Amino acid sequence: MTTPVLALHGVSKIYPGDVAALDDVSLAVHAGELLAIVGPSGSGKSTLLNIIGTLDLPSHGVVEIGGQDVTQLSDRRLSALRGRWLGFVFQQFHLTDGLSATENVATGLLYAGVPRKQRRPLALEALDRVGLSHRVDHLPHQLSGGERQRVAIARAVVNDPALVLADEPTGALDTANGQAVLDLLMALNGEGTTIAIITHDRDIAAQLPRQVEFRDGRVVSDTHAGSPV
Ligand code: ADP
Repeated sequence: MTTPVLALHGVSKIYPGDVAALDDVSLAVHAGELLAIVGPSGSGKSTLLNIIGTLDLPSHGVVEIGGQDVTQLSDRRLSALRGRWLGFVFQQFHLTDGLSATENVATGLLYAGVPRKQRRPLALEALDRVGLSHRVDHLPHQLSGGERQRVAIARAVVNDPALVLADEPTGALDTANGQAVLDLLMALNGEGTTIAIITHDRDIAAQLPRQVEFRDGRVVSDTHAGSPV
């Protein structure tokens, strides 16, 4: 078996006041997977996302990205790992207002140490992958919500990360645009991108090949293409 892209071993996160936002979570994600991390509000999804995204550390347990234990890395090494291995998509897009679509996507390469000259052609290629070749010089306010999220997805995949973390990526969109964004993520997965979608929405989760369900900080089920594993 190949090394998982992401592995959590006995991860807990205890907040002050003894709140166990995550309670002994173990999980492995392999290259090429598309999974939903699904659960109601308060089930620990944001906490998990912060820990997988190396933005926060667990209280107990080990988090491995590409086989590397991230709990042992310095801040500098962590941000390098984040830039090279992870792509982020947020509910509210988080594009920079004064920058064109291309410039927004190119910022995804900044932290990966890609030389300036190579950034624009790579950004244009990523915008093409998300179907936005005709919007490359538009500013975020000139784009629809669905288009903005496509730009954000292009930014997340431009560096070909090992894992894309999408936090409620359809949450700010109407049903049709939300479905289009979900279809795009599925198409990118079809091309080989590994993607975890964090959502409270069971209808979204149900469309994905794997669903990891959280309740009260614990994994309560892990279902692969209709059959529990
Ligand atoms: P979700 O994203 O699924 O809504 P969260 O990860 O935000 O869940 O929260 C999980 C639990 O941890 C909740 O009970 C929440 O109140 C608690 N929690 C989250 N962040 C903090 C914090 N900074 N301090 C204390 N408790 C927290």
